Amino acid sequence: MKQTKITLEEHEIPERWYNVVADMPNKPLPPLNPATHEPIGPEALAPLFPMALIEQEVSEERWIPIPEQVREIYTQWRPTPMFRAYGLEKALDTPAHIYYKYEGVSPAGSHKPNTAVAQAFYNKEEGVKRISSETGAGQWGSALSYACQLFGLGCEVYMVRISYDQKPYRKLMMNTWGADVIPSPSETTEAGRKILAADPESPGSLGIAISEAVERAVTDPDTKYALGSVLNHVLTHQTVVGQEAITQMEKAGELPDVVIAPFGGGSNFAGLSFPFLRMNFTEGKTIRCLAVEPTSCPKLTRGVFRYDFGDAIGMTPLLPMYTLGHDFVPAKIHAGGLRYHGAGALVSQLLHDNLIEAEAVDQIESFEAGVLFARNEGIIPAPEANHAIASAIREANRAKEEGTKRVILFNLCGHGHFDMSAYEAYFSGKLERHELSQQDIDTAISKIDTPEIPETAA
Ligand SMILES: *Cc1c(COP(=O)(O)O)cnc(C)c1O
Repeated sequence: MKQTKITLEEHEIPERWYNVVADMPNKPLPPLNPATHEPIGPEALAPLFPMALIEQEVSEERWIPIPEQVREIYTQWRPTPMFRAYGLEKALDTPAHIYYKYEGVSPAGSHKPNTAVAQAFYNKEEGVKRISSETGAGQWGSALSYACQLFGLGCEVYMVRISYDQKPYRKLMMNTWGADVIPSPSETTEAGRKILAADPESPGSLGIAISEAVERAVTDPDTKYALGSVLNHVLTHQTVVGQEAITQMEKAGELPDVVIAPFGGGSNFAGLSFPFLRMNFTEGKTIRCLAVEPTSCPKLTRGVFRYDFGDAIGMTPLLPMYTLGHDFVPAKIHAGGLRYHGAGALVSQLLHDNLIEAEAVDQIESFEAGVLFARNEGIIPAPEANHAIASAIREANRAKEEGTKRVILFNLCGHGHFDMSAYEAYFSGKLERHELSQQDIDTAISKIDTPEIPETAA
């Protein structure tokens, strides 16, 4: 029988996270104070994050030890399985070998608990009582709720009003894990009250929800804030995925030619690809690392590399990123996790230096890919993951045209069990293609008024 599943033992869970900064030829530029445009020091982040995470955020150490308690919790779902997609290969009639790493086996159903558990641990260590955060579609909120519950921390999740009303099951997952879920905008914060005064029927946005969660952390000494993507420490926590994947590929006796992951803020892409990039940096390998974004939110392929805010309203420090502008509002596609205007600083610098690649896929192609995958591999992917599958299929088809073997590895970063309404929209022909015109892009970019990145630094 063909071996489709490549498993690891518990002791093969990585003992440390890999910090790509140590090996980057050009280090990421520092975050700036939005008022003075001067680099901010770690102390500026102290109201928001525990010191241990701030240290990781600015660290240039190659390896960061994973606390024993975090590793113990990881054993509940890690090491995650890798599969050889024989069914999909056959359906595509391709000479390519396709592998996928499956992160949907975590309690919350995605890669997000890899960092949620770590963040909850460090907050608990430093005496924090409660974590506030925001969630759009609910994947990050549910991962954080689960992690806070494990450590006896309170968890307050500001959930974008329209998702709160339309996606009750993610909210109920959070409630089941003991979190307070507040539809945003809300009456509990100054930011929320201001929005509601202007528009009592506001459907909310991720930007507003971030503002509310940040305000809670800044105004309550027992509460800190957590983010599920974009920041360096979050990307670093996810590197357990890629480290395991390297061991699994070794067991399969192959090395990927290309490593693919969907891209929202960069955490699951970084998690899978950074350990492979390390092989490029230190062992002279030439593994391609490909980030896949939706055509409706193409910051990597059509955005600009410059300083911008992390949130929609402009409360965060300025971060160096590929961006479409912090007030860019993407079309309401069904991969909620990919509707973010910018990209994390580490991934942005790597893309700028041509050390990684990016491409965009529209949601129809992505759902076609996801359904083909589900019918041949069984697992129903999250709509975000469908983007990576679409690119993996493009690569496999190219291998077929060229008549060459190609080893493809992608991140199946979550299952789609709470996203069946998106599949329903696809099956009933209600999904639309969303390709932005050059004028849409130019308009979005012309509105950016934050500092440019100096030519010498870039
Ligand atoms: C949050 C999420 C994403 C997008 O975020 P990244 O930080 O880019 O990984 C993608 N897929 C799933 C399943 C998610 O939950």
